[in-house]
Amino acid sequence: MPDTSPRLEVRNLVRRFEGTCVVDDISLSVAPGQVTCLLGPSGCGKSTTLRIIAGVDCQDAGEVLIDGHVVAAPGHFVPPEARGIGLMFQDFALFPHMSVADNIGFGLKATGSERTARVDKLLERVNLSGFGNKAPHMLSGGEQQRVALARALAPRPRIMLMDEPFSGLDNRLRDGIRDATLELLKEEGSAVLLVTHEPDEAMRMADEIALMRKGKIVQRAAPYNIYNQPADRRAAEFFSDVN
Ligand code: ADP
Ligand code: MG
Repeated sequence: MPDTSPRLEVRNLVRRFEGTCVVDDISLSVAPGQVTCLLGPSGCGKSTTLRIIAGVDCQDAGEVLIDGHVVAAPGHFVPPEARGIGLMFQDFALFPHMSVADNIGFGLKATGSERTARVDKLLERVNLSGFGNKAPHMLSGGEQQRVALARALAPRPRIMLMDEPFSGLDNRLRDGIRDATLELLKEEGSAVLLVTHEPDEAMRMADEIALMRKGKIVQRAAPYNIYNQPADRRAAEFFSDVN
């Protein structure tokens, strides 16, 4: 039987900036092999939620659990590098002095042919076969972003946090890279929390959508259900452009 107990769990998370609650009692969970989309308009608190889960920001209340173990709670903090989390944020940065292949292999423990095989497979998946020896500055913005994606996926993170990772890609490439990313993440059985402000992207990629507004989750449901039975009129309007 597949393991369906949550790999990532967030309970009653609260984060205030200057008295304003930007994350207001957020709870969610993600099982292995599942993609949950945190979907909502700009400024609703998506990135802040992700940053707390990653361990690069701290909550004012609530807790984060990984595999049932608390990694963040009042008075308890497991550092980011000990959480087994892969990150793909909007403002990715490649190591400029390393080749594309070395960037992708950076987080790998494997050496020799095993390492080369993993890097080559990832290069192929992000449509960059043959780019391994190039320097990052020789690549376009979209190509660099795909390298960053491959680098994040390389160590097979148990949890993958992605913050608008496809937003800089042109339309022609985006669907292909989305599909390749999903396929890889599913293969690895990662638990994925994907942040996006685009209903289209959530509909395409999510097993479950958590619709956010002003720091709160207003609805959690499968894409089909949330599209057909939005919780309220504003949710319906938010999805009205999806084709
Ligand atoms: P989203 O990712 O959904 O666009 P964010 O989580 O980035 O939203 O931001 C939520 C709100 O919190 C915004 O109003 C933003 O201006 C505010 N905010 C985020 N980070 C900080 C910070 N470090 N200090 C003060 N306000 C912040
Ligand atoms: Mg954001």
